Amino acid sequence: TPGLERALSLIADVPDFPEPGILFKDITPLLDDATALGSVVEALAAPGRDDAGRPVVDKVLGMESRGFILGAPVALALGVGFVPVRKAGKLPRPTYAVSYALEYGEATLEVHQDALQPGDRVLLVDDVLATGGTAKATVDLVGMCGGSVHAVAMLMELSFLPGRAALDGVPLTTLLSV
Ligand code: 5GP
Repeated sequence: TPGLERALSLIADVPDFPEPGILFKDITPLLDDATALGSVVEALAAPGRDDAGRPVVDKVLGMESRGFILGAPVALALGVGFVPVRKAGKLPRPTYAVSYALEYGEATLEVHQDALQPGDRVLLVDDVLATGGTAKATVDLVGMCGGSVHAVAMLMELSFLPGRAALDGVPLTTLLSV
């Protein structure tokens, strides 16, 4: 739709951030525009609906930090709760944790052990799919909680990286491929 296209056109390219050689996709100009934000939230919620527009997921999970910004309004649009997936040490109660490799070193993501009911179907929301490490770790966390991933919805995928393959088979919707 034209509204969604305009929204995505607001994403800014920032060269050499956070390191030389990285072209960072900055979504803050999109967030700053209420119409753009609304069309992106509705598009990210779509994989959580059936053909009649009814919600088919029990929770939305968002990955720290931009997955919180997008995921919480997606959850509201679907009429379901939001679950934060956080970096190690941030959640106050017992967690499940998954570690995964970064380009240099390792990262750990956590979710509260009681965040899901057994059998819950979830929609994962984040801004950028790069290597897929973050998304794959989150899929594994959902499994540890006894839930299943209905779909992954991302604003953008970096198609020169193997993120889609890393999700081995989990349905993935991205609004923009660069
Ligand atoms: P991955 O684990 O797929 O390699 O990286 C994805 C994570 O890194 C996401 O949580 C995403 O927010 C962040 N990320 C990686 N590259 C970019 C980028 O160019 N722009 C933004 N906004 N986030 C990025």
